[in-house]
Amino acid sequence: MRHLIIVLGDQLNRDASAFDGFDPAQDCVWMAEVAEESTHVRSGLPRTALFLSAMRHYAAQCRADGLSLDYATLEDGHATLADALRDAIGRHRPRGLVLTAPGDWRVLQALRAVAAAEGLPLDLRDDRHFYATVRDFAAHAKGRKQLRMEYFYREMRRRHRVLMDGDEPAGGEWNFDAENRESFGKTGPQGVPAPLRFEPDAITREVIALVQKRFAGHPGRLESFAWPVTRAQALQALQAFITRRLPHFGRFQDAMWTDEPWLWHALLASSLNLKLLDPREVVNAAEAAWREGRAPLPAVEGFIRQILGWREYVRGIYWTQMPGYAERNALAAHEPLPGFYWTGDTSMHCLRQAIGQTLEHGYAHHIQRLMVTGLYALLHGVDPKEVHAWYLAVYVDAVEWVELPNTLGMSQYADGGVMASKPYVATGQYIGRMSNYCKGCRFKPERRTGDDACPITTLYWDFLARHEAVLAKNPRMALQVKNLVRLPPEERAAIAARAAQVRAGSVG
Ligand SMILES: Cc1cc2nc3c(=O)[nH]c(=O)nc-3n(C[C@H](O)[C@H](O)[C@H](O)COP(=O)(O)OP(=O)(O)OC[C@H]3O[C@@H](n4cnc5c(N)ncnc54)[C@H](O)[C@@H]3O)c2cc1C
Ligand code: SF4
Repeated sequence: MRHLIIVLGDQLNRDASAFDGFDPAQDCVWMAEVAEESTHVRSGLPRTALFLSAMRHYAAQCRADGLSLDYATLEDGHATLADALRDAIGRHRPRGLVLTAPGDWRVLQALRAVAAAEGLPLDLRDDRHFYATVRDFAAHAKGRKQLRMEYFYREMRRRHRVLMDGDEPAGGEWNFDAENRESFGKTGPQGVPAPLRFEPDAITREVIALVQKRFAGHPGRLESFAWPVTRAQALQALQAFITRRLPHFGRFQDAMWTDEPWLWHALLASSLNLKLLDPREVVNAAEAAWREGRAPLPAVEGFIRQILGWREYVRGIYWTQMPGYAERNALAAHEPLPGFYWTGDTSMHCLRQAIGQTLEHGYAHHIQRLMVTGLYALLHGVDPKEVHAWYLAVYVDAVEWVELPNTLGMSQYADGGVMASKPYVATGQYIGRMSNYCKGCRFKPERRTGDDACPITTLYWDFLARHEAVLAKNPRMALQVKNLVRLPPEERAAIAARAAQVRAGSVG
């Protein structure tokens, strides 16, 4: 054999660079299901089922296309990717290994170590799925004191001619946020389109049974599993989003509502991250919808910014900052993650909702991740590594390159300001404004002390007090710190006492 072509669980695109020069007569595709990928963090059942089902569908397609394929199943019993790869090398004796750059630093190190130990060349190729290479991002970052997504995004729009009219941004503005991000008002969301559901076929049903047995005790449920597991399904999901949800996407991007897990969100992150969809086809479809008058510009620009901007930007941060990035803990947070993150068993209604749907579907939208579960962990002072392990475990779209900068950087401020210029902190009143969660809660979002004080509001003031010295140096936090300084000492003491009760678990 000439080459073993390594295909990882989040590399399910047949136009990947690893296939360049593929010769069916001399090369073999290698894939493996191994326990470690579901146990290095306690991967949720929906996430594991999605990865394994999508891998098995992809493998079936490779076989149907006549490619030679070596596929190790979970039942073959390999503990780690490294073990499985060593075993395949022993059987095939290839002259070299080929790999598209993976999405996880740990996996890259493990595969490199196997290649070195076996004395085999590892041909590591750029991942063309992304618009920008890591080198492009590094060139953008070079010499800048402070990175900002907005500037990177504008560069990407110009370079890739996305939403441009000549040299100007379409509609004359780069950003239409002022027209986005409304709440629903008292009436709540009206006419939310039901998402497309992809009922499990025989392969998915087999995977679900296997995952339920093998990973019993892991978080999450599989009864309502209906995520796209093939490229054909992912394309249908894209089409359904563009026609039914995109027109309202921007307007209600930050809004939340009880028992409405999907709203107008794209639900495409898992398909993109498994590479069932190419970001260019997603961005082009959104732009075409605007140009043909099927969706307004603020919605389309807001959506494209997430993919061409944020998604590419966080990947650049990950690969230029790793491995040290995962160790960062700028606010010296050391509390353990509260147990209710794994069960949803809490009387804080916003957290019960966000965690409940996460366990049920492996999904919560961005503001639920950032301003409910992320906010609570930040204010509580949870160790960022524990927060990271939770997010990486529970979401169907979680792959480390995208999850880590969002969690550790954007939501926990543990990188000290690389991702976000200030910590995303707010009282429960923000949640009260953007949702109806507080209506169904025994706490009052405006109260910071007393028996019915909202734990988030209490912890917000306590957070400001605990980090006052650091936050006072950040001009973007000046107003919030000024409000803290105005509080009389007895009020500050009462907040600290209530915050200690919240942290001890005797409230909430
Ligand atoms: C703490 C935290 C953890 C997160 N972990 C992940 C993760 O593991 N995987 C992941 O794909 N996204 C993650 N995100 C980003 C974002 O929340 C999800 O991409 C989004 O909620 C997925 O749902 P959707 O497909 O309906 O996206 P929509 O909200 O409809 O957005 C459209 C698309 O834009 C992209 N996108 C949007 N925001 C971001 C962002 N901040 N970073 C990167 N891409 C973005 C996604 O591909 C998404 O599918 C995280 C955000 C936070 C705050
Ligand atoms: S009152 Fe506080 S805990 Fe309750 S739902 Fe509102 S923000 Fe959440």
